[in-house]
Amino acid sequence: LNGDYDENNIFAKIVRGELPSARVFENAHVLAFMDVFPQSRGHTLVVSKQSKARNLLDIEPEDLAHLIQGVQRVTHAVNAALKPDGIVVTQFNGAPAGQTVYHLHFHIIPRWEGVPLGR
Ligand code: 5GP
Repeated sequence: LNGDYDENNIFAKIVRGELPSARVFENAHVLAFMDVFPQSRGHTLVVSKQSKARNLLDIEPEDLAHLIQGVQRVTHAVNAALKPDGIVVTQFNGAPAGQTVYHLHFHIIPRWEGVPLGR
C-alpha cells in the first residue's frame, strides 16, 4: 500500500488527455469514463483529476469528498440511463486486493437480475 504515485499511470494519462477514453462525465474535480474491460454493461470508472493518490489511504479528505460526490452523481446518471436492478460501487487498494491501476478510482458496475458479471 505504500509507495510513490507514478505520474505516468494509465489513468493519469487519461486525465491529461494523453490516452483516449470514453468520457461520460467531467467537472472541476472528477472525470468519469467507461472501463475498457467492462464487467457489465455500463461499467464506469470515476477518478479525481487533481489528487495524486494511489489509493484510498493517500487522498486528502477534501479531495475524497469531491470524488465521492462525483461517484454519486455518475451513479445517478447510470441508474437513470440504464435502469439496472442494482449497482455495485467498489474500490480496491493494493495488488493483493485486486488493484491494477495505481490512481485511486471507484468502479460503478450496473447489475441486472440473472445476468452474471463478465464481458
Ligand atoms: P482495478 O483492478 O485497479 O480496480 O481496476 C482497473 C480497471 O481499469 C479495470 O477494470 C480495467 O478494466 C480498467 N482499465 C485498465 N486499463 C484501462 C484503460 O486503458 N482504459 C480504461 N478505460 N480502463 C482501463
